[in-house]
Amino acid sequence: MELKIYHMYPDLLNLYGDLGNITCLCQRCEWRGIKAHIIPFSKDREVPLEEGDIFFMGGGSDWGQNIVFSHLLGYQRIMEELIEDEAVFLSICGGYQFLGATYIDAAGNNVRGLEIFDYETVSEGGRLIGNIITKNVLGLEPETLVGFENHGGRTYHDQKPLGRVMVGYGNNGKDQKEGMVYKNCIGTYLHGPLLPKNPHMADHLILKALNRKYGLSKLQLLDDRLEYAAHHRVLELYSPTK
Ligand code: GLN
Repeated sequence: MELKIYHMYPDLLNLYGDLGNITCLCQRCEWRGIKAHIIPFSKDREVPLEEGDIFFMGGGSDWGQNIVFSHLLGYQRIMEELIEDEAVFLSICGGYQFLGATYIDAAGNNVRGLEIFDYETVSEGGRLIGNIITKNVLGLEPETLVGFENHGGRTYHDQKPLGRVMVGYGNNGKDQKEGMVYKNCIGTYLHGPLLPKNPHMADHLILKALNRKYGLSKLQLLDDRLEYAAHHRVLELYSPTK
């Protein structure tokens, strides 16, 4: 078995450890004997997207986002088709904002998004920064997701959220929602990087991709003691009961 993992704009969208998500996906596949091909895609490295199994888009500065936004608009239709066809997407922070209709950045520029979803993100005064803990709505065990957020943008939508905020800010610091889920597409504000500290989320993405491609319904278990030690350490340090 093999998976093609597209790393979208690694040169422009890579904040707060986002690259670690690619390393994590790749390693967890290889530990199971699944070949993972990492395919970088960027402005000066355009490759066809049709064959992708997993697409990863990290977060970016407003400067980087502006460059990516105008370039990726040319790929709007294929991205939408892939999402509808249940390809796996993990879009973090700037990448998540980009799947929506618009992002009003800190300078007030109205940056068009891919409009795959109809949500808006508006940069408001003061950045939302810190460790974040949520309860996922995907039914994954453990229930918690841990990460680190740092964004000026506030996202508002009625989509299914990825999680309910227990500690931190999430989409906008107001409605307790964090991220969004549609089919196998996940948007989230969780950097950190997200996947190494949340191996259940990493395996969720890998299994979805293998299920779509090969009909697989179960993954071989790995020894995740170290990964969950990191996860639980974050819970210990930042849980509301502390
Ligand atoms: N530039 C965006 C914001 O500040 C996204 C930041 C990020 O990806 N961490 O909201």
